Amino acid sequence: MKVLVLGGAGYIGSHTVYELIDKGYDVVIVDNLSTGHIEAVHKDAKFYKGDIRDKEFLNNVLKTEKIDAVIHFAANSLVAESMTNPLKYYDNNLCGTKVLLDAMVENNIDKIVFSSTAAVYGNPKNIPILEDDETKPLNTYGETKLSMEKMFKWVSNAYNMRYVSLRYFNACGAHISGKIGEAHNPESHLIPTVLKSLISDNTIKIFGDDYNTKDGTCVRDYIHVTDLANAHILALEYLAKGNESNIFNLGNGVGFSVKEIIDASEKVAGKEVPVEVTKRRVGDPDTLIASSAKAKELLGWKPEFTDVSKIIETAYKWHKNNRF
Ligand code: UDP
Repeated sequence: MKVLVLGGAGYIGSHTVYELIDKGYDVVIVDNLSTGHIEAVHKDAKFYKGDIRDKEFLNNVLKTEKIDAVIHFAANSLVAESMTNPLKYYDNNLCGTKVLLDAMVENNIDKIVFSSTAAVYGNPKNIPILEDDETKPLNTYGETKLSMEKMFKWVSNAYNMRYVSLRYFNACGAHISGKIGEAHNPESHLIPTVLKSLISDNTIKIFGDDYNTKDGTCVRDYIHVTDLANAHILALEYLAKGNESNIFNLGNGVGFSVKEIIDASEKVAGKEVPVEVTKRRVGDPDTLIASSAKAKELLGWKPEFTDVSKIIETAYKWHKNNRF
């Protein structure tokens, strides 16, 4: 099967490409390199630099490459930025996806797997969160991802197309080879920020310790990027077998507080750093923990990295040695 990976030079995209190639898929990547890294592009994938909002470019790739299925990661994903620059998110995430869907319809491509997020739920009423729970995003990022899901729903209803939407919880860790990892600029996610602070002896900031959780700091469900990557391949296989469109949560089903992540990171690094508690970050819910029972049952997905220390070890190896 020939798979087009949009955003294949980014964090989760590049890890998915590594797993696809490992399993014998033929991979074509499109990435505009706005947040992705050329160093993260697998040498055995065919790479096109370009923007998914450029219809002529995208159509040309689809026609030339005779693509069987698409995996779509090409989107902006910073919560804080999405609040100060919402139109950037509407333009890239929604307008980009509209152009993509046009091109897919025109080229008769009928299968797509795409990145969604736990941010579609907002402040959940129940923990663990199920796919059918209420969706009420607290930020523009989550809103655009939810709108993308709806766009896929109505378009697949009208045309010969099926989709799988994967709602990631907190993606983290790095490829076990140490060749690729999480490299955002600027970095805002907890684990890479803590590890960078440990490496450079900078103070770690905890955004609020007055949440309604076990130690007052926010609780999240941390899931290794390679486990996420493998879920995309299972989702492709699920669609290839003729199954209907579907939405799946992806998480480990276990919550760790910010303080627990800092403690675990200090143990992995074998050192301590100063920690400062600052005010809450806007839009952070207390607790987000996934139920991934549906992905386990229907996709046969089983996360391999269930120990948070092991996840942090892969990220630490990357941050210490190989960051681009
Ligand atoms: N966080 C923190 N300090 C940091 C970065 C993040 O206290 O330097 C907290 C953040 O407020 C949230 C949790 O860590 O409660 C996870 O944040 P992250 O940005 O990694 O992921 P999110 O859950 O927002 O997708």
